[in-house]
Amino acid sequence: DSLSLGLSWYFAKISDKQPSKTFTYGYKRFSLLAALINGIVLLVGSLLILSEAVPRLIHPEHSNAKGMFIFAVFGILVNGLAIWRLKNGKTMNERVVTWHLLEDVLGWIAVLIVSIVMMFKDVHILDPILSVLITMYILWNVVKNLKKTVLLFLQGVPEEVSILTVENELQKLDNVRKVHHTHIWSQDGEHNILTTHIIPDQNLTWPEIDSLKTRIRLRLKDLGIDHATIEIERES
Ligand SMILES: [Zn+2]
Ligand SMILES: [Zn+2]
Repeated sequence: DSLSLGLSWYFAKISDKQPSKTFTYGYKRFSLLAALINGIVLLVGSLLILSEAVPRLIHPEHSNAKGMFIFAVFGILVNGLAIWRLKNGKTMNERVVTWHLLEDVLGWIAVLIVSIVMMFKDVHILDPILSVLITMYILWNVVKNLKKTVLLFLQGVPEEVSILTVENELQKLDNVRKVHHTHIWSQDGEHNILTTHIIPDQNLTWPEIDSLKTRIRLRLKDLGIDHATIEIERES
């Protein structure tokens, strides 16, 4: 758990590094890799928790209420602080890490509630019931995030972008006759990359083509694409 958190912290740190000769796009995909690893760790972790909690639904055990209470308060403080620091995170990795921490916090809150109840009353069944409910909730979110991460990893078009909309918007620009062969993918869920072919009106001068490219890039920025490669072609 903390190993994968450390790993994502390290990858997040790397992902801000400037492009190099080996990683010409920069290191943003490291944060996606971290999101993938984290997602898998969370998936396995949730399944393990479930496999422990479910049998305890049938055979509840006696637990130490006071110790649980102290651990819970400590856990909530530590994880709550970390979540608060990440709350504006937008990359896939930050989102996954936030879920990671949220899982822990919710778990600790459950432990806290159970421990308080058990200080007054010995109801063993509460502990596994809460564990199972919270883990199911987390699992659902982890799977959702993991699906997104895998899509980005396999260079699918990111969910927030539609290739048809992008092509239509470019088509609407002055001097654009045809748009085709468009690729869109995302480095980390935040930095999107496009390549496309444009056939402009005939007889444009070089300065006009330059200004067209600038207008295309500006329009693309509005559509959430910050790195575009545009091939200008003549109608064949
Ligand atoms: Zn073409
Ligand atoms: Zn470039």
